[in-house]
Amino acid sequence: MDEHERGCKHCRGVRKDSDALRFKRLGLHERRQLLDAAAPEDKPNRIHPPGPSPAEQTATRRAVANLVGAGLMRLSPERLRLLPGHDDRELTRLGRKYSVVRQGWRTELGEAIVHFYRAELEAGRRIRWLTHLEAATETALARCPDRPPNTGGGEPRKTVRVRRLGPRSTSGTF
Ligand SMILES: [Zn+2]
Repeated sequence: MDEHERGCKHCRGVRKDSDALRFKRLGLHERRQLLDAAAPEDKPNRIHPPGPSPAEQTATRRAVANLVGAGLMRLSPERLRLLPGHDDRELTRLGRKYSVVRQGWRTELGEAIVHFYRAELEAGRRIRWLTHLEAATETALARCPDRPPNTGGGEPRKTVRVRRLGPRSTSGTF
């Protein structure tokens, strides 16, 4: 723990979220939404249920709420309005005439979790928190947005940035 972290509220929150993760299981919808969310420094991604059924939409809402609660995801206050004639493919996919979609990012911790556990998240395999959670937490702490530049304590942002999602993230609408 360095000087910044001792005085930083954001970093204390990351530690707390990380501690709670050790007992957490991520379900199918949570894994999907975490993988689909944008990296913290990018524009937010639209949040999509995997299909148009009410069950899928409810499961997606719940998964996103769980991820937000676990400190892995952040929602944009801005909602996107989908309009006929403009977002038809997306609306068809949702089974709606009109819709409003939320947008979200991974938090720094969520980003680090995806970096270290992408294979497990994608394959639906068991996540062994003991293996990488500590490293993921350190990575997230080094990227604290409240950290002043050049105080050390981690790699520069660029080198810890993980690659963007492959084909799995594309919903076929863009
Ligand atoms: Zn901090």
